Amino acid sequence: MDLGIKGRWALVCGASKGLGLGCARALAREGVHVVMVARGAEALEEAAQALREDAKLPAGTEVLTVAADITTPEGRAAAFAARADYDIVVTNAGGPPPGDFRDWDRAAWIRAVDANMLTPIELIKATVDGMAARGFGRIVNITSSAVKAPIDILGLSNGARSGLTGFVAGAARTERLAAANVTINNLLPGAFDTDRLRATMEGAVKKTGQTMDAVAEARRKTIPARRFGTPDEFGATCAFLCSAHASYVTGQNVLIDGGAYPGTY
Ligand code: NAP
Repeated sequence: MDLGIKGRWALVCGASKGLGLGCARALAREGVHVVMVARGAEALEEAAQALREDAKLPAGTEVLTVAADITTPEGRAAAFAARADYDIVVTNAGGPPPGDFRDWDRAAWIRAVDANMLTPIELIKATVDGMAARGFGRIVNITSSAVKAPIDILGLSNGARSGLTGFVAGAARTERLAAANVTINNLLPGAFDTDRLRATMEGAVKKTGQTMDAVAEARRKTIPARRFGTPDEFGATCAFLCSAHASYVTGQNVLIDGGAYPGTY
């Protein structure tokens, strides 16, 4: 299927690896020019260079990088200095650390809310009115399946991302955006094979004394698909939500979790 977005410009945050890179790759393979953001300049440039050399990229597709912390005003200014009028924005930053809520002070909460709620809101605020004026816009927020099925040790993520989810539910439905072909949706990953998942499992290895294979196998058994997702399949869903065909899909929370969420709705 031609997604109908060739030649559009996308800002993809947290794009040097994992799910963000999966989104950048899927969009670029559709001929979308991408501006990739991450803090570590070297890994970011390596990922971008690999993408430029990807045989599936249509000729003329641009892949640019901005090494910046997207959770800071300076980082966002750098992303918008690369280009002001993005058609597509994929919001993403690292997830907050796990822990016990008794140990989190105000500063820990502010960091989590900043990265996983206020940063996406700032990116939305900076782009959607321009998108509406041009008659096309797609925002995809990478959030977490924890928004629907909270995980006890990820309280910072459960809380901050739920705030973003509530905001998006209202903002996406405003006539000024929805009637102007500007959509805002959240993509909720379950367990995906990325460094973040490996780091979480390493924590379990240390805590339980089990091997990494045993921890991974136990985790896979909790997923009906009996496997972890791949960044490429995550990216494919993101690209569809960004496509010309998805203009009637807005304000949604799309789970990609191999069936792990046990509820009917
Ligand atoms: P990952 O493999 O650790 O990749 C994170 C990416 O974001 C890297 O490119 C990282 O590069 C970048 N990044 C982190 N903080 C940033 C910042 N402040 N500014 C700019 N870039 C930043 O993580 P992932 O697995 O792809 O996860 C992506 C998101 O999905 C996270 O919020 C995570 O909590 C959530 N999630 C993941 C899973 C899963 O199973 N993988 C499940 C549920 C939710 P630098 O460090 O160089 O900046």
